[in-house]
Amino acid sequence: MTTEQMIQKYKDWIFRQSAYQMALSLINFDKLTIAPKGGNEYRDEREAYLAGEYFAIATKKDMIPVLKALKDDENVDADTRRACELYYKNMMKDACIPKDEFIAWHALQNESYNHWLEAKQKNDYSIFEPYLKRIIEGSKKIYGFRESDIPIYDQMLDDYEPGMDREKYDRFFDALKERILPLIKQVTEAKQIEDGFLYEKFDIDGQKAFMEHLLKYLEYTPDWGYQNETEHPFTDWVCENDCRTTTKYLENNVVSAIFSTIHECGHAWYEHNIDPKYDGMILSNGVSSGMHESESRLCENYLGRTKAFWEANYPILQEQFKEQLGNVSIDEFIRAVNVAKPSLIRTEADELTYPVHILIRYEMEKGIFDGTISTEHLDEAWNAKYKEYLGVDVKDAKDGILQDVHWADGSFGYFPTYALGSAFAAQFVDQMRQEINVDEMLRTSRYGEIQKWLREKFQHYGCFYDAPDIMKLVTGKEFDPQYYIEYLENKYRGLYLSDKK
Ligand code: ZN
Repeated sequence: MTTEQMIQKYKDWIFRQSAYQMALSLINFDKLTIAPKGGNEYRDEREAYLAGEYFAIATKKDMIPVLKALKDDENVDADTRRACELYYKNMMKDACIPKDEFIAWHALQNESYNHWLEAKQKNDYSIFEPYLKRIIEGSKKIYGFRESDIPIYDQMLDDYEPGMDREKYDRFFDALKERILPLIKQVTEAKQIEDGFLYEKFDIDGQKAFMEHLLKYLEYTPDWGYQNETEHPFTDWVCENDCRTTTKYLENNVVSAIFSTIHECGHAWYEHNIDPKYDGMILSNGVSSGMHESESRLCENYLGRTKAFWEANYPILQEQFKEQLGNVSIDEFIRAVNVAKPSLIRTEADELTYPVHILIRYEMEKGIFDGTISTEHLDEAWNAKYKEYLGVDVKDAKDGILQDVHWADGSFGYFPTYALGSAFAAQFVDQMRQEINVDEMLRTSRYGEIQKWLREKFQHYGCFYDAPDIMKLVTGKEFDPQYYIEYLENKYRGLYLSDKK
């Protein structure tokens, strides 16, 4: 085969893959948002079939020599070479799995998800426990096909964040444990900030009216973005100009939907900012889970919780909820949205205690895969860690072990990237603030200009570079968790401990 013929074969192959990926992603978005539950079984069966077809294409063995040849051919353009390198890497991981095993695994993921949802609704871990056990066994089996000498959990960590393993995460979490756990204790014992006004009754229609304004401010426009509602907010995308997010409204919490929206739109913006020439190929994705999360957290916390952000938005929120917020000053509001308080729910956690929720999941995942924790007592182990690290009592499984969807479909190794993302963001923001006047842009409703900086600095590359290279490209330095730790220390000492000593 000539190089031209190989490139044509490669192009046909990625086009077919992207068609199946689009179908699967839309079916998933539909399932999680509007699809009637009664059709679950019918749809899941067909979805598993499509996933199997997609898998068969993605792991087609006759593509192995083509990808290998193209990735190593200096005469081929750099984008194609890089894409082939990544496809080849994935192929080596997946091609070893027999198709029927893959379909069975996918069906189990669907079944497990449905039971997790039921268990959460009924607040009963025992409904989910047998499926969790099967999901753990199933994922061990799937990873077993790779015949790698690397322990399974390390492989999982590397899948979500290439280059990471237990040793590196241990170092990262140890640094957090050493500096952040004592800070949480000090903050918990300090004089508390008044935030009760955020949790009065805020009618959902009023929240939705503010949301219309917020989406405009975030420049998340209908020509490329769409928002719906789900129990567990998330972002999905088909291509750079078709991104979908979800949010969740709570009547007794005026900021929950707001911050989840800023967060998910941060994910969507990242996908939107990737160079459209990569649409339909592997390069058209955020570079890693940690990098993706860095962008959403950058938007949610490092932009969305600043005074400058609310100088542009608070008057409108106040106008919407005169009765509840009319007498609350912007400074009181800012302090309230930055309150740190140990709590039960990860997605509702503040910036300071958030990484501890992740630390707990990380330690539990390690225990699951080294065999020291079994599914039978996983809820108790969970509750004990929450008590030990955050000092809170878990009374209901729905607010404890059942709160997150990740384990229901076997996404082990994913959680740690959430904490890593916050830490990446701290380093990016440090650089961004040296180069552009972020506060001025936020204050004057020029959110798109901040996104432009992110796009031009690195987001447009998609995964043309690896995460560590991107960190160096943007900040001139290797990733350093000290930026994150110092950010948290400065911020929360300022909020809670400044009048001491
Ligand atoms: Zn996220």
